[in-house]
Order: sequence, then C-alpha cells, then structure tokens
Amino acid sequence: MKESIARIGSQQGSRKRYQTGIEVEEEELGQIKAQLMYRMRCDCGRPWFELELKRLIQCPACRRLSLVSL
Ligand SMILES: [Zn+2]
Repeated sequence: MKESIARIGSQQGSRKRYQTGIEVEEEELGQIKAQLMYRMRCDCGRPWFELELKRLIQCPACRRLSLVSL
C-alpha cells in the first residue's frame, strides 16, 4: 500500500518535470532578408555580383559594355 502510493507520487513528479521541459518561452524573432544575386563574369575574367539582371552591363574592370546572357 505504501509502495504503490510512493510510485504514483514519483510518476506524477516525473510527468510534471517533462511538462515544464517542453514549455516554450516566447522569444522575439529577428528578420532575415534573402536576396537573389547574379554572378557576372566578363570575357576579361573579372567576376562580380549584380542584384538585377540587365541586358547590358559595363564590366567594372575593363569598362567594356557587354550583352548579358544567362
Ligand atoms: Zn571585363
């Protein structure tokens, strides 16, 4: 009789501990912005990144205006 009561008591105790273990505290979430970037590469060998895909882009290294192809 005493043993069974003690076992029930310990089970309740462990369940309580589990419930507190899964409690989720609210946290303020930050924001992350994802940006698409196009990797350009000129004939001169210079690579760089552009946020927009344009038809004509001037290479920052050789200053040549070139047609962009995907
Ligand atoms: Zn170039």
